[in-house]
Amino acid sequence: MVEVDGARGEGGGQILRTSLALSIITGQPLHIRNIRANRAKPGLRRQHATCVLAAARLCDAQVVGGEVNSRDLEFRPGRSTGTGAPRVLDIDIGSPGAISLVLQTILVPAIAMGEQLTATISGGTHNPLAPPFDFLDRVFLPLLRAMGADVRLELNRYGFAPGEGRSDSLGSVTMVIGSGALRPIDILDARPVTDRRATALSCRLPSHVAERELAVVMHELGWERDELLARDVRGNAIANVLMLEVNRGAARELVTVHGEKGLPAERVAKRACDELAAFLALEVPVGEHLADQLLLPMAVAGGGRFRTGPLSLHATTNIDTIQQFLDVPIRCDEVSGTTTVSIG
Ligand code: AMP
Repeated sequence: MVEVDGARGEGGGQILRTSLALSIITGQPLHIRNIRANRAKPGLRRQHATCVLAAARLCDAQVVGGEVNSRDLEFRPGRSTGTGAPRVLDIDIGSPGAISLVLQTILVPAIAMGEQLTATISGGTHNPLAPPFDFLDRVFLPLLRAMGADVRLELNRYGFAPGEGRSDSLGSVTMVIGSGALRPIDILDARPVTDRRATALSCRLPSHVAERELAVVMHELGWERDELLARDVRGNAIANVLMLEVNRGAARELVTVHGEKGLPAERVAKRACDELAAFLALEVPVGEHLADQLLLPMAVAGGGRFRTGPLSLHATTNIDTIQQFLDVPIRCDEVSGTTTVSIG
């Protein structure tokens, strides 16, 4: 049994998700204690309990301690290869918790198992502290496809937090995985930006919120009008999300800032512009969040390299977690503020 201490390093939910994924992939039983010890509300929240449930359903695991508030979990995977028959998972987080993080738990294992899977998850599609739907769909998934996976996503309904917890009013996303195995790729060159796109989502808010945000993007970054999109969407809560996306050929980056009550639209947009400008100044293809998310598929593929900025605590903690399960070398070379990560 692999013993994982959930308090190590960053001490959040990613240790749980990566451990579940690798327990399924390697077939090794997992015991994790001190779950999310460094968070204000430690232990499994609804979203994390749903990650455990989804992981268990994927591989017919036996679980002890998978309920909300648990800080200690035993997970014994039933199998680490697919049955050959297409599998369907339909899972409701029961709150607007992040759908993307539930998908992050089962995505790489399902590909590695050769499982043909259709998973529909209801919850939140655009949550702070998690990849928004658009990040998975437009930044992460194209790279998994470049690595050989057959995977696509569909947004059925938007969902925002905080909001109502009734499943028919929550967001919903469907992920479809076909056959295809992961192989190593290199993402090293920061080529000139080819496409740019700013999307200001708003739900139950006056149209001037999105318009003011996009005016700041035009002014601060010099983007053209046809690169700006204001989307008024239906959903379960009042919400505003500004996303700035750039394509550097080898990879995309998508910066997200969530509007908050009392925070002027201009400040939301300025934060997003500053974050994107800081990424572009680094002249690397891989942004901070993508860096921590690429580690698992590359380690499972047995290799790959990418260039990013300084590694976050999320990324270094994820490397430690991966190395508890897999005997794959991961080297990080830092030169003047940029890091080349080499796996395999
Ligand atoms: P944790 O805090 O341990 O639950 O992990 C959060 C995960 O969400 C990490 O993989 C982060 O990289 C990812 N994440 C957080 N914020 C964003 C964002 N704005 N865009 C993309 N990914 C994000």
